[in-house]
Amino acid sequence: MEETKHAITYAGKSIAFQLRYANRRTMEIAVYPDGSVSVKAPLGTDENLIEHRLQRRARWILRQIRYFAQFDPRRPQRRFVGGESHLYLGRKYRLKIQRSDTDSVMLKHGFFRISAVDDKPEHIAQLLEHWYRRRADVYFSQVFEECWHHFPTNKVDKPRLKIRNMKTRWGSLSRKGGMTLNLQLIKAPRECIEYVVIHELCHLLHANHGKAFYDLLERSLPDWINRKKKLEMALC
Ligand SMILES: [Zn+2]
Repeated sequence: MEETKHAITYAGKSIAFQLRYANRRTMEIAVYPDGSVSVKAPLGTDENLIEHRLQRRARWILRQIRYFAQFDPRRPQRRFVGGESHLYLGRKYRLKIQRSDTDSVMLKHGFFRISAVDDKPEHIAQLLEHWYRRRADVYFSQVFEECWHHFPTNKVDKPRLKIRNMKTRWGSLSRKGGMTLNLQLIKAPRECIEYVVIHELCHLLHANHGKAFYDLLERSLPDWINRKKKLEMALC
């Protein structure tokens, strides 16, 4: 499939998007966690029509981009100074930073209490990232084990769990049966983490997003749509 770059302007803001034509009946607009926008359109769709549809969805697209920006530690608006809010499991905590002989991060009394040998933003960012990773190792494993325990199958082996930063997805499943979760999910509420894990578990039995996949997802997690909306995974 050929992919080309386009942009529209809405309320003075330029929105760039990747356009792909595919053998499909409907148009799909998606905003990914890295802020990129992708459009899949049926073969032969008029470009004016595509731009018109994007204009109509522009407010929603900008809202998604802003939503994802708050999870991204590399965004310039993240300053890593005292008083700034950072997310953990869907809640915001402000930073309290203190110079010290040793580095440490604690979540205590509603604050991220950070002691650091150096209070440069890059150093604070790194400490926080390590803290998120340690928490994610424990937390994701727990959620994963619980979801697996309730997953209605004995036909497949339990996947191995991996955690890493991914630009465009919250989770993925490899052919060899490894499940990868995006580290940034540790900033989202538990119910959203469960949704991603169960979505990926369903892929163990159904590789594609066909009817059988959604039937299984529906049975495994009847309120998955609300959870998906909450995570704003953003497919229309
Ligand atoms: Zn999927």
